[in-house]
Amino acid sequence: MALKEKDTSKLITKYLILVISFLCGGIFIFKMINSPEKINLTTYEKQLIEYFQEVALNSDYGQSPKKTIKWNSKMVLYVSKDKENKNQVIKIEEVIENINSLFTDGFKILLTDDRLKSNAIIFLSSIEQMNKQNPGFFDGINESVAGLSEIEFDWGSCEITNSKIFINTDEPIDVQLSAIIEEIAHSIGLPSDSNIHTDSVFYENQVDEAKLNDEFSQLDIDVIKLLYHPKMKSGFNQFQAKNTIKRIFKSEPGDYSVSGYKKNNS
Ligand SMILES: [Zn+2]
Repeated sequence: MALKEKDTSKLITKYLILVISFLCGGIFIFKMINSPEKINLTTYEKQLIEYFQEVALNSDYGQSPKKTIKWNSKMVLYVSKDKENKNQVIKIEEVIENINSLFTDGFKILLTDDRLKSNAIIFLSSIEQMNKQNPGFFDGINESVAGLSEIEFDWGSCEITNSKIFINTDEPIDVQLSAIIEEIAHSIGLPSDSNIHTDSVFYENQVDEAKLNDEFSQLDIDVIKLLYHPKMKSGFNQFQAKNTIKRIFKSEPGDYSVSGYKKNNS
């Protein structure tokens, strides 16, 4: 009898532990799923999420997977030119130096003098020259362009493997300089233009409104930082990207804010 009692109490203990651990697991899972939603986002953080979705998950030309696309290996960039194009080359070097300082997942853009070692090329040329070197590059484009970039990526993994950037050297130099920063930003996996923020390099009416942006805006900087954050993987859909951004905000408070803006208005 005594033995039986012992067994019963053991059974109860086991049962309780199971129930308690299950409840803890339940609470834990519930917290994991819900915690990103519970953060009080600042106006700037909301804008940043919206802008990330606008420029990263859409595309102006061609099909968009509606997922994050990014380089998972180094982008080795070759500058193709038949003239010195000193100002453009200086701008390319400056943009690369700036943008490299924003990546925290190990990604880098490197310049190379060896075309064969490159996986990305920036062509400083006229439309005619570009057409000769890359037949079909402007297919489906009816307007005259100051710059254009083409990204090749794996449709499954959404990893970028190759890119071609065209800068139209028949355009005025200030137009070319703003096209250089815009197209390099497109080529790292931010394919879409937008008409929301006039100070952004992705602002689509820059040439028409003579509002040429040759520096990244604060939102541009933060969108780039988010795409090349170790937590942001290629192939994330809108929901996954949004929750990842919220987790980044939570783990790095104050890193994504406009100075002077009050965080967490509580
Ligand atoms: Zn653009």
